[in-house]
Amino acid sequence: MYFDATDTYGHKFGPNSQEVNQAIQNLDSILGYLNAELAKLEIKDSINIVLVSDHGMTEVSPERTINIDDLLIGYNFNLEGEVAFADIEVSKEDLPEVFNLLKKNENHYKVYLKNEVPSYFHYSKHPFISSIVLIADLGWQIMTNKDMEINKKIIQKEITVMIIIN
Ligand SMILES: [Zn+2]
Repeated sequence: MYFDATDTYGHKFGPNSQEVNQAIQNLDSILGYLNAELAKLEIKDSINIVLVSDHGMTEVSPERTINIDDLLIGYNFNLEGEVAFADIEVSKEDLPEVFNLLKKNENHYKVYLKNEVPSYFHYSKHPFISSIVLIADLGWQIMTNKDMEINKKIIQKEITVMIIIN
């Protein structure tokens, strides 16, 4: 079973919203009902319930934005997965320079070479991961000029969340 209410309302209204609190209460009631009904079954002692989460969220704000285009002016780069983190690919020739530039300006984010991403992220071995990985500090978001334009058009509430990989 997947109950989407906390995720849906978290994305829509922000993780600290009244809507999310209400969704948590509702899910708590549903789980209580599920437990009570399962307890009535003859097979109740053979049932295992495993609860898992979707992902975490934190509030972000336009004032806490890292503009990657501003940081990498003059370089050709490919960017994937921006917001909480970004995969950045550049030419082999530019790699040391771009990495050093990002390292020098490391403010509200951490920058890693692919093979130096901390092991607890489990994010350094897959061939699709780029040479440079940027991870925003909690509450900060990594964006391009284009992302920022798009976000200006979106209702503020819809951009007040950030996905935390856990
Ligand atoms: Zn979600």
